[in-house]
Amino acid sequence: MAFDIGQLPRRSFLRGVTGMSAAVAAGLVLPGQASAAGEPRIYSCAEWGARPPADPLTTLGHPADRVLIHHIDCPNSTDYSLEHAFQVARNDQADHIDNNGWSDTGQHFTVSRGGYRLEGRHGSLDALRSGRKIVRAAHCPGQNDNAIGIENEGTYMQVVPPKAQWESLVVFVAYVCRQYGIPVAEIKGHRDFYNTDCPGDQLYAKLPELRSRVAAVLG
Ligand SMILES: [Zn+2]
Repeated sequence: MAFDIGQLPRRSFLRGVTGMSAAVAAGLVLPGQASAAGEPRIYSCAEWGARPPADPLTTLGHPADRVLIHHIDCPNSTDYSLEHAFQVARNDQADHIDNNGWSDTGQHFTVSRGGYRLEGRHGSLDALRSGRKIVRAAHCPGQNDNAIGIENEGTYMQVVPPKAQWESLVVFVAYVCRQYGIPVAEIKGHRDFYNTDCPGDQLYAKLPELRSRVAAVLG
């Protein structure tokens, strides 16, 4: 400690440290990483080098009312770098367009195992910032016009996400819920609406914790 805390009123010192720690943990005040509006850092399609959509996309003029959590069902890489996160996004987009025949990346957003947050489908970030629009997606039949789809890099049937990914997801889901006014009870798993293992048994089991963590961030 570079100063004598005896010089400071203890209560205000503690309050200051607690406030700072909470803000840093929420990913809201890291230098160079947050906008003036307190948005957590989200890498846009342009930043990770997305291809243009294969077909025109549709933006709907109403807010999202749910968040659906997914896992990509890809290897649990130990490369936690930003460049790897960008590559995951590019691979996912190519898979969805070239193999699934979709217009673009299916989900609205992706969180890498290193904790980087990336836009998925083009336009999702602008829509999120507006809080009043949602891009029609392709992440869960019946939910694509109303639920924000967040894919987590990895496979979470047997293991839980790494801490960096989990903490990033908490911050990100809190931001999504705040922007759209989504109640934490509407943070759901893909399997709640479709016959699938997604987002994996281990990540699915953590959704109650995710709801309570998000509720704490939202205050
Ligand atoms: Zn899924």
